[in-house]
Amino acid sequence: MSAPATQFKADAQRMAADLRHRATIQTAMGKYEVVRDQRKRWFQDWEGARTLAARTKYEAVNGLDKHLTRFTQQLEARGTKVHWASTGAQACEIILDILKAKNAKVVVKSKSMTSEEIHLNGALERAGVEVVESDLGEFIVQLRGEPPYHLVFPAMHLTRDEIKDVFEKKLHDAPSNDPEELTMVARRQLRKKYIQADVGITGANYAIAETGMISITENEGNARLTAALPQTMITLMGIEKVLPRYEDLALFLPMLAVMGTGQALTCYNTMYGGPRQTDEADGPEEFHVVLLDNRRTLVLADVEQRDALGCIRCGACLNVCPVYRNVGGHTYGTVYGGPIGSVITPHLRDLQDWKHLSYASSLCGACTETCPVGIDIHHHLLRNRRNASAPKTGKPSWTQRQLFKIYGAIAARPRLWKLTTKLGRFAQVFHGPVKGGVLDPMRAWTKTRDLPPIARQSFREWWKERGGHE
Ligand code: SF4
Repeated sequence: MSAPATQFKADAQRMAADLRHRATIQTAMGKYEVVRDQRKRWFQDWEGARTLAARTKYEAVNGLDKHLTRFTQQLEARGTKVHWASTGAQACEIILDILKAKNAKVVVKSKSMTSEEIHLNGALERAGVEVVESDLGEFIVQLRGEPPYHLVFPAMHLTRDEIKDVFEKKLHDAPSNDPEELTMVARRQLRKKYIQADVGITGANYAIAETGMISITENEGNARLTAALPQTMITLMGIEKVLPRYEDLALFLPMLAVMGTGQALTCYNTMYGGPRQTDEADGPEEFHVVLLDNRRTLVLADVEQRDALGCIRCGACLNVCPVYRNVGGHTYGTVYGGPIGSVITPHLRDLQDWKHLSYASSLCGACTETCPVGIDIHHHLLRNRRNASAPKTGKPSWTQRQLFKIYGAIAARPRLWKLTTKLGRFAQVFHGPVKGGVLDPMRAWTKTRDLPPIARQSFREWWKERGGHE
């Protein structure tokens, strides 16, 4: 078993048994579900909107080269410096070079899961730069030395008391566990950092090819301050964030808000188009955009799974996933957790080391059903399983082939099938005492689950009993 798989198994077992954690998550998810469903009803035709979103993303992903060219041309025309990074390490180097050129000592950051993906904070801190997360949830998990727990709610797993504790310990300022007072504590800290910061780093929700603009949606206004106050702004984004047209935002902004946080629209929706122009009063003097590949082109090359690049990171599939709701976000060991993380992480990292995530699914299809851009998530998980079991030949392994041959031989012979089911029923009588123990040949399954009993009577037996003829 690979190291990430061993870690996942151990953490999943621990978290699934943590009833306090489960209660916190279930409460948060329950509230989210109620408001999300209310807001969805505000769409005249939700299914029609999903179809349109899926089509637009299909167009964006399948014409990525063309859209990226247009996007970068527009950005450069307004004085933005565009950088291309093939790997996470390269992106970190590019950003470090910009910081060095500016002699930057303090950086404020906002809205960037991509920077978590490439471990940017660690790289900056090793270079002696102070990095401060400015979104409240991310600020809290940064103080705790943890990665974000969820794509949209980074500190969802924490209670108010836990947040108060960390503020007390790290900031020596926690008047009570009242959310408003705690928010004010964070605000006081962050306002100082905005003024001190030499550079602001943000992510991007969407990149509009038609206009060369970056769209960021948020609820706290911190990304705005991150982008507006420091003299230099850097946007780090994956190449898949492109939308073809400006008008596409009319669908994607409300859709992300509804599915992400259950709002009709997020409080702040801002478009960034480049550095401060001569007739503008504020904004950064210098604007850099770093476009990150980091194996996304491998997903693009896979025609079966390329639509996974259409993900808008709304987190809705995490919220409905029975596995995520039990094991929590940190267990996945990767920045993109839950069902979509289980689809893309084996691509972004390594299939053999991360294939276990594709098995961490009940395949109930709730993720696919909820995804606003129509990604067929649970079938992608099955494809990952298939690809992982037959990495070179694309065929099932020798053991799988033999097992299916044996199954085929039994299933094709009615007498043999009858005998096998009878033996199975008989064996099940003795299974009880050894179930889940070391003597149990089915232990891998039965340790945590029940083995469904074989029906006491087959259909043929039932039919015969009622006088039917074979
Ligand atoms: S896969 Fe779909 S539901 Fe999951 S985060 Fe992405 S867009 Fe949202």
